Amino acid sequence: MMRASGTRIELAAPEQCMGCGACYASCGFGAISMVPDAKGFYRPDVNAERCRDCGACAFACPAVGAATQKTEPLATLAAWDKDADDRAKATSGGAFMLVADAVLARGGWVCGAVMGQDMVVRHVVTRDREVVDDMRGSKYVQSDVSEAIAECLAHLQGGEEVLFTGVSCQVDAMRRVAGSRYADSLLLVDVLCHGAPSPRFWRAYLDYREWEEGDEIIGARFRKKEPSWTVFSLELTFKTEHRLRAWCTVEDLYLRAFLGDYITQEVCHECPYVGTGRVSDITLADFWGYVSETRRNRNTEEGISLVLANTPKGKSVVELLTGLHTIKKSLSEAVKGNGPLRSAFPANPKEEEFWSAFDVGGIEAVKGYLVPVRFSWKHRLSLFFNDHAYLLPVALRELLIDMRANE
Ligand SMILES: Cc1cc2nc3c(=O)[nH]c(=O)nc-3n(C[C@H](O)[C@H](O)[C@H](O)COP(=O)(O)OP(=O)(O)OC[C@H]3O[C@@H](n4cnc5c(N)ncnc54)[C@H](O)[C@@H]3O)c2cc1C
Repeated sequence: MMRASGTRIELAAPEQCMGCGACYASCGFGAISMVPDAKGFYRPDVNAERCRDCGACAFACPAVGAATQKTEPLATLAAWDKDADDRAKATSGGAFMLVADAVLARGGWVCGAVMGQDMVVRHVVTRDREVVDDMRGSKYVQSDVSEAIAECLAHLQGGEEVLFTGVSCQVDAMRRVAGSRYADSLLLVDVLCHGAPSPRFWRAYLDYREWEEGDEIIGARFRKKEPSWTVFSLELTFKTEHRLRAWCTVEDLYLRAFLGDYITQEVCHECPYVGTGRVSDITLADFWGYVSETRRNRNTEEGISLVLANTPKGKSVVELLTGLHTIKKSLSEAVKGNGPLRSAFPANPKEEEFWSAFDVGGIEAVKGYLVPVRFSWKHRLSLFFNDHAYLLPVALRELLIDMRANE
């Protein structure tokens, strides 16, 4: 535990802190600010003169307070937005926007992550659909959530409905700050998380690309689904006539650093939110390992959401989404394809060495660590099988699925 100097308050130790902002949002005395640590992750800084030692921050902190009760999903679905244009704008199947639209239609507020013009990722709270539109798509950078949690709380206290979305630790922070008082008006949706990447590394990467291209970056989009959903990519927009340039996993330094587990928070490697026990009403993810059982439902590489309805409230929200095409699946099928439903991603063994090199020489100094991720032929064959399994007779399909499960 970390004791703030001059106070008796004990918050999470640096290696346990998730930067979820629960402490910041729960402080009634403005004694906590969120500041970047050496790797750029958001961390609380307690002002001893303002602190009254009330303990609200430690109570809200998911790392040092009592653990949040988790629930096992009531329903597991593969799903996608029936509107092809909307589905194309999302990272997975577009379930998020349909949930958000349902809340907006009832006059509620929506909270989610947007990337500002300064290329910083922050959570914002809005009823403006254009702003909610900017929440679409995963931004693989840790988001600054602290102000947004307090704003959501104010709306809840005013008797209004709020949809809060974010990675699991942020959703737990919102839940803990709100307590059980607003269970009817607060809808919690978490996106399954590989780990939160460093905002400092993100900025350094952008500076590097700006230097390389001799142009300013004014926009970024992860995983545009070109050429397809399963090929990870990053597209940057440069200022001169909104020029676009895209890189895929094999050639992009940032994606390689992220997927190589060099730049996520230390605590993410021991994430307490992995597994099938969830802290939200609904969990959204990519349905990796989706097997198409009929031609109509085959994987067209346009994105498939995994939707876990974790509470009766979450289940009824999902059931009312008429724009969502859903297919019932088993939880074990979802778990098989999706790492965070089983365990946390371990740190890269060279993570510390990587950061030491980066501190001295920046992006240029860590290029040697960022070797391309290439899929094996076995992995490619498995993807091909998933997409075309519906063509095989049921008995043969089941045999092959069993064989893969027993590997
Ligand atoms: C850092 C990160 C890691 C992820 N890792 C995995 C993974 O390992 N496996 C997996 O299956 N899915 C992962 N996801 C989730 C996945 O990428 C999709 O976000 C999710 O499936 C929802 O997709 P959608 O099509 O329903 O809607 P989309 O429109 O794609 O989803 C947008 C939603 O993501 C939220 N969001 C976007 N960026 C951030 C951010 N930086 N911090 C917090 N919330 C954000 C928005 O608030 C909104 O709720 C991750 C997402 C993030 C942000």
